[in-house]
Amino acid sequence: MRTKRLINLPPEEYEHPFDRAALDKLRAMPGLDTLTNFMLNWAYVKWHLVELKGSDFHVTRESCPELYELVRDVADTLNVDDFPEIYTEWGYAINAYTTGFKEQTLLVLNSGAVDLLNDTQLKYIVGHEMGHIKSGHVLYHMMAQLFSTMIGMVPLGETLLTPIQYALLYWNRMSEFTADRAGLLACQDKDEAIKSIIKMAGVPMKYFDRLDEKSFIKQAEEFEKLNSGIADSAIRTISIMASTHPWTVYRAGELLKWIASGEYDRILNKYEGVPCIHCGNILSKDSDYCHIHGGHPFE
Ligand SMILES: [Zn+2]
Ligand SMILES: [Zn+2]
Repeated sequence: MRTKRLINLPPEEYEHPFDRAALDKLRAMPGLDTLTNFMLNWAYVKWHLVELKGSDFHVTRESCPELYELVRDVADTLNVDDFPEIYTEWGYAINAYTTGFKEQTLLVLNSGAVDLLNDTQLKYIVGHEMGHIKSGHVLYHMMAQLFSTMIGMVPLGETLLTPIQYALLYWNRMSEFTADRAGLLACQDKDEAIKSIIKMAGVPMKYFDRLDEKSFIKQAEEFEKLNSGIADSAIRTISIMASTHPWTVYRAGELLKWIASGEYDRILNKYEGVPCIHCGNILSKDSDYCHIHGGHPFE
């Protein structure tokens, strides 16, 4: 299925309110700039990027055209301006991440994500990461990642968290909801999006051809009921615990609620690009000029 190009799609249209609220709170915290500058100038961070470029496989149009074009297609679908450098690294967890700074963003895909997902599901995962890029999450993510690593290294590391680190890790989790929406907008297939999440949640490979979204959706709905009975502070505490796969069932539940609200369909409809009748250039519905052939695109 060819995906619809979403012309001029602003991230504010689909950002999850928890993500936005947590990020606003984080940005308002005194000391964040100091921390950010410290991180940016910290040699370790630069080394981390150098190390990654020196050890992972660099995906380019020449080295791996199929994968490159898939990522390119997702970026075009979601209207992402900052196209990242793409790398793959060995590992059979279904995982991907973005790292770096604005001028130098890297998208890293585990080989497991590429091998164990079909193309639509892979577009979901890549779209999720593009969502992080579009919303400007990448730098803060890298900071959260480093803090999580530090927590793991220090005994009782969690008790040493300062409020700002706590806020950062909490926001990190919430930002996943926004990215999941971007993933769905990229792959444009609700069932395949849920199937990607089921695979991430840990269904064994031998059952991959028999994935049952309905029972997973039921699990998500039951989790939602359970969740509503737990105090917000408990959720917040659990939400910052360091783990690589954040709450897949919770995430699926949030995504399903968003679909049910009608927002997903509304956005697809509103931003879907249409081809110019003269030259095929994809433009937004309300354009009155096509710069490719130089005239009105729909008259
Ligand atoms: Zn993410
Ligand atoms: Zn045209």
